[in-house]
Amino acid sequence: MSTYAQTVRSSAPQLADVVPYDPKYLPADAFLSANENPRDVDEELRRQIMRALREVSFNRYPDPLAHGLREMIAEANGVSQDQVLIGNGGDELLFDIALAWGGPGRTFLNMPPTFSVYENNAQLTNTTIVSIPRDEAFDIDEAAVLKRVSEGDIDYVIVTSPNNPTGRLANEQFIIELLESTDALVVVDEAYFEFSRKTIRPYLERFENLLILRTFSKAFSLAGVRVGYVLGAPRVIRELIKVRQPYSVDAVSQVVAQVVYENRSQFEPGISAIIAERTRVFNELKRIPKVVAYPSDANYILFRVPQAERVWQALYDRGILVRDLSGAPYLEGCLRTTIGTEEQNTAFLDALRDVLAQLVREQFPLQSQSESLKA
Ligand SMILES: *Cc1c(COP(=O)(O)O)cnc(C)c1O
Repeated sequence: MSTYAQTVRSSAPQLADVVPYDPKYLPADAFLSANENPRDVDEELRRQIMRALREVSFNRYPDPLAHGLREMIAEANGVSQDQVLIGNGGDELLFDIALAWGGPGRTFLNMPPTFSVYENNAQLTNTTIVSIPRDEAFDIDEAAVLKRVSEGDIDYVIVTSPNNPTGRLANEQFIIELLESTDALVVVDEAYFEFSRKTIRPYLERFENLLILRTFSKAFSLAGVRVGYVLGAPRVIRELIKVRQPYSVDAVSQVVAQVVYENRSQFEPGISAIIAERTRVFNELKRIPKVVAYPSDANYILFRVPQAERVWQALYDRGILVRDLSGAPYLEGCLRTTIGTEEQNTAFLDALRDVLAQLVREQFPLQSQSESLKA
């Protein structure tokens, strides 16, 4: 029974089936659940950021389009400023895309399993969702996507490359065919491109319907600061500016991102280390019985295990927090580990081996007993 003198009427009907986003960030020794960079911005760079922050006027509204940062990103990518838009994380820009290209009577083509934010945004904006699921190996069903798009009613598509949470790049040839075959807005989400070292950027000149999404949250260690950007045709950027919150990128974030971007070459050794560790972790995972690991071009690896929920909990009990995706559609039995530091990855692998060995012992108590007798 409510104790309020007055209750509130229901929210908009499209919210009825929406579950609030809960990343389940729990305290842990090894935080391997959110695809962040394990190394924070280093001391010298932090000092440089602090010096720059001293110049910021807190009483003034920020530059709506973050011109300093915008210019830097435009120049680094060989495009003009009107082809760049900065957002409060990539997530804000994804929502802006749904507002501008989705809506009632409009249609979004999704390729699950992929980043859940896309579907959520479509739902919130009353956009119709058409899903073309990936195959067993989590590769895009290219023929089915091209065929569906040829029907002409799709307004926007998001190709995640590398795909989160499954890990692989999309085929460049497929993206080009898609761009050629439709005038729908084709968003290529390159949140992890610094780890794949592949981008579709060279095609910006040729395709007005291509929009590339990037973020400072992963390779550049700024998940806490909330900065992302898109690269696209001036006409597309202009539409996104119409729907965005004018002051979404605050003055502090603009300064932090500028200093980091100016010094982005300093992040290169950390990125290379993550790429090297990705290979090591993948090879180790492949050697663990009962584990199926999926190859990755990003800074995380998806893997399938029996009794995934129990394995997740047992890893957590050992101080290792990974992402449990086993309840998500198409991802039964799947967990995802972010590539951390060498020590964190080793702790994760040791814990996983330990947990799975224990499960096997529970399942075959007599067999392992006789094995231990032999030993
Ligand atoms: C992390 C991520 C983003 C953007 O994250 P922000 O922190 O909001 O910049 C976008 N797309 C995918 C697939 C991601 O994993």
